[in-house]
Amino acid sequence: MPKVEETRLEIDLNALAHNYHVLKSNLPANTQIMGVVKAFAYGTDSIVMGKKLVSLGATHLAVAYIEEGMRFRRRGLDIPILIFYPQLEDLPKLLEYNLTPSVYNFHFLENLNAALIEHNVIDFPIHIKINTGMNRLGFDMTDVNRLTQLLSANKHVKVEGVFSHLSAAGMPEENEFTQLQIDNFKVAVEAFKRNVNTSFIAHLCNSSGILSHPEAAFDMVRAGIALYGYGNNPEEQKNLQVVASLKTRIAQLRVIPPGSSVGYDRKFKAEKTSKIATLPLGYADGISRIYGNQKAEVLLHGKKAPIIGNVCMDTLMVDVSEIECKEGDEVLIFGKQHTALAFDKEKQSIPYELITRISQRVTRVVI
Ligand code: PLP
Repeated sequence: MPKVEETRLEIDLNALAHNYHVLKSNLPANTQIMGVVKAFAYGTDSIVMGKKLVSLGATHLAVAYIEEGMRFRRRGLDIPILIFYPQLEDLPKLLEYNLTPSVYNFHFLENLNAALIEHNVIDFPIHIKINTGMNRLGFDMTDVNRLTQLLSANKHVKVEGVFSHLSAAGMPEENEFTQLQIDNFKVAVEAFKRNVNTSFIAHLCNSSGILSHPEAAFDMVRAGIALYGYGNNPEEQKNLQVVASLKTRIAQLRVIPPGSSVGYDRKFKAEKTSKIATLPLGYADGISRIYGNQKAEVLLHGKKAPIIGNVCMDTLMVDVSEIECKEGDEVLIFGKQHTALAFDKEKQSIPYELITRISQRVTRVVI
């Protein structure tokens, strides 16, 4: 069995730069870009991507959890970092690491306020999250008046940002709903301008927002998946370049006669003489068992080879009967010339999930 390092995730920083410029050129000049680098920068490499995004001009970064933000600070990045899901127990660390919390309910706000009073802090930057229709996190529109009154009298926090999240910006058939979210957000932004301050950063758009509704860019956008090269519909996908390519090499080749089975539970049974390649990656590397049994295809010498049988923990098998190949040859699981969308041929998942699941034991190689 070849060493596991033969399975690698190649990260193309030029593709990242290309995507950054595609997004930038779709936005009104002066729109700031927050690079979303949560979940190891969508399964790539947080520090490499974070640094590159800063060098490209991103003014902010965003992550989900405080630990992710602390990693950037430990590696010397001093750019503003928004934490989407801060927990109450994170409060001391938010202060210590100068990380900006998203504040999405009164309970968190009260506790944050108490911690700031205790530490004698004034003007601690926060971003307020408004629920404009996603119904995931955020103050409801009906909370906005009470919230702005509370904040107008509070010297311990400084509202540096007001934001919301679009739930279906990449679906043209949901444009009416997206417009409703945009309209709600405008109402909230106006209330904050009237009652709290006029200098905060308003941000609403994710990647699909940027690509499909740039008219709603406000002051800043939060770019995630498009930076990594994936759009949420063919139109969005058009100009993007896939950043991360998951590659491996053929560990073993064998020819099996008709009637032979392959892998656990004998799920594949050859109807004819078949050439089978075993690849050294499996579900522990991020290739779910849902992709076994012909549900996905990899690329070998430019040709597609289906995954056959059940995916194992460290290996999977592909049928390469029609492809001239030898042991050690390179296989693209998904990436530049064969996207996660092409790999997942029955659309059982989405590129977000496929790329963020590539496990940490896969070596990351920056090219
Ligand atoms: N903003 C928030 C609050 C998010 O949760 C996410 C990602 O899930 C993003 C922005 C980035 O979204 P996308 O990857 O679709 O650009």
